[in-house]
Parts: sequence; structure tokens; C-alpha cells
Amino acid sequence: MTLAKIEFIPAFSDNYIWCLSDVDGNALLVDPGDAEPALAHLKAHHLQLNAVLITHHHPDHVGGLPEILNACGDIPVYGPQNHCETINHRVAGGDSVQLLGSTFEVIAVPGHTLDHIAYYLRAEDSENNTPALFCGDTLFAGGCGRLFEGTPEQMYASLGALSELPGPTRVYCAHEYTLNNLKFALQAEPGNAALAKRMDTTEQLRADNLATVPSTIALELDTNPFLRTQSKELQRTVAQAAQISEGTAVEYFAALRAWKDRS
Ligand SMILES: [Zn+2]
Repeated sequence: MTLAKIEFIPAFSDNYIWCLSDVDGNALLVDPGDAEPALAHLKAHHLQLNAVLITHHHPDHVGGLPEILNACGDIPVYGPQNHCETINHRVAGGDSVQLLGSTFEVIAVPGHTLDHIAYYLRAEDSENNTPALFCGDTLFAGGCGRLFEGTPEQMYASLGALSELPGPTRVYCAHEYTLNNLKFALQAEPGNAALAKRMDTTEQLRADNLATVPSTIALELDTNPFLRTQSKELQRTVAQAAQISEGTAVEYFAALRAWKDRS
């Protein structure tokens, strides 16, 4: 039985735990940082937890694991090489994992942390025949994760790999940061019409207290400044903000990330 449904479970102030399920009621969780809302969701929807997928070691992504394993028994927890002892199936870029009749391809995306991985489902394996990407804190709607452990070169390469996925790929990131990200994006690229349009849609969704995710790779390519270092307008504003004259794509990316960190 293939994957039927992908839903989010809000956690903390702005996290999303993703819950994937099939028509028989088998479920997976991605990055359950908090056990309580995750367990409540499973119970309310009569879902049986089969496995957990982890993208990286930060507490708001792994914190709920002990309590979830306590409640749901000895299930596999897939995740990267790190110090989180609750992960019992270690995976790395190039690996694939079979769950709920679907193949999850593991992509290494170092940058936010060095251990960060993403999980990709091809169209035939995903909800509504649409490819899906679970990318934790690497690619956000309208932004990208902070560089806590990796270098700008690593993050640039990681985002580059994700941006080569098919345009319709749904981007299931782990936080509701979109409005703030787009405010910054408009500073970096004020003349981007697609970005202005996305801001309108996003403001409306947030005014109605609705989620702005998932987005798509195509929308990110059009509007996310961290995927747009080739834009001449963006290069000009970044050069001005960072007081540099000219740079490589990676240098523009590093200066853009540093500018966002300051703003
Ligand atoms: Zn994180």
C-alpha cells in the first residue's frame, strides 16, 4: 500500500512535525521534536506508528523520541550519524529506505548542521503522485537554515542539489518561517514580481492563521533569494549590504546569509 496522506502536526511555537500515512492507518513521523502533539495526532486519527525519520540532531527535531518510543514500542528510527542515541537505523546520502510501500531516498545536505539529511519521495511513491521532499532546517519556504555547523560552500552545494529536484516537488520544511523570510527576500530582491505575489498570498494565509507550507521547488526557484544568487538585482543589493564589489555565487550566498543573520 502506498502513501496516501501527508499532514502536519504543529509543535512548539513554529515547528511542523510531518505525519505520513497509508489507507490502512500505518504512519510515519518526520522530526517529532515534541511527543505530546504527535501522540495526540496519532490517537485522534487512529494511526499506528511504524517508523520515524530524523533529519538532524537539534532538540526541536528529536526531543520527542524517548516518549514516543515508550508509547509506541520498539519501532525503527532512521536518521543520520550523530550523538542522538535513540536513532537505531543510521543512514547517509545515497541510501534509500522502504517504508509504507514507498522508497525514501536519502540526500546529504550539510550546512545547518553537519549531519543534516533530507528524504525524497519520487512521484510514484508519494501523495497524489507529486514528488515530496522532507528537508528539515535546510531549505525553508522563502529562506534557508542558519549555518550553525557547516560552511557557506557546504550549504550552497546542499541547496543546489535540492534545487535540481523536479519543479513540482513539494517542499515539506520543518518551520513556519515564511512571512519573515519573504520580508527579508523583498529587501534582497525588491523588483521580483513573483516574490511580491508570493508575499500577498503568504500574508493572507497567515492572517487566516493557515500554514504556508508545503511550497514547491519551482516556487522556491522563483522567489527564494538563497536559490537566486544568479539574479543581478540580488547581487547588487547583497554587494551593497556586504560592502563588497563583486563575488562568486558562493560569496554572494555567504554574504546574503550573513546579511539575513544581522537583520
Ligand atoms: Zn535545526
